[in-house]
Amino acid sequence: MSIAECIDILLSSEKKNNPLLPENTGFIIPTKHYSYEFYKILDYFISENLVLSLCPNCKRRFIKKYNSRTMYCDRIYKNTHDICQSYIAKINYKKKLKENPIQSMYNIYRNRLYMRLRRGKLSPEEANLNKLKEIRDRYLQEYSLSDDKLVANKLCTEFENEIHSFYQGLEL
Ligand SMILES: [Zn+2]
Repeated sequence: MSIAECIDILLSSEKKNNPLLPENTGFIIPTKHYSYEFYKILDYFISENLVLSLCPNCKRRFIKKYNSRTMYCDRIYKNTHDICQSYIAKINYKKKLKENPIQSMYNIYRNRLYMRLRRGKLSPEEANLNKLKEIRDRYLQEYSLSDDKLVANKLCTEFENEIHSFYQGLEL
């Protein structure tokens, strides 16, 4: 019996197919219902504290340590260059940034500067998008450390004030 077949049986929810659901005992006993190879694999899983898991992202099965907090597998996801774990981490990071008021405010000012830059109303030196990024990064870091809502609000105001004072005269 191959590992894949064993895994299929292990994942089966039907009692008649699943040796992990014995009638009355909590023990796994090798019987004629499943082969010696199967028992060996099962024993290996138990002795190594391994469990079978289904990756919620790619919907494929994978094996992980019982106490591992990983939910996602480490296979390359579709045509990305990321494994499911880092693919999901990146998506969550982007989502978090979108919900972040410092980042939202940064987007507003960056877009304003960018539009004027495109229309030729500002020079790249005047727009100084790198400086805007630098200010944002500093506030993002502070923001991520603040649990207090009042402190977070204060940071947003300070961030906006700093943008205005840096771009004084541009009437952003
Ligand atoms: Zn996956």
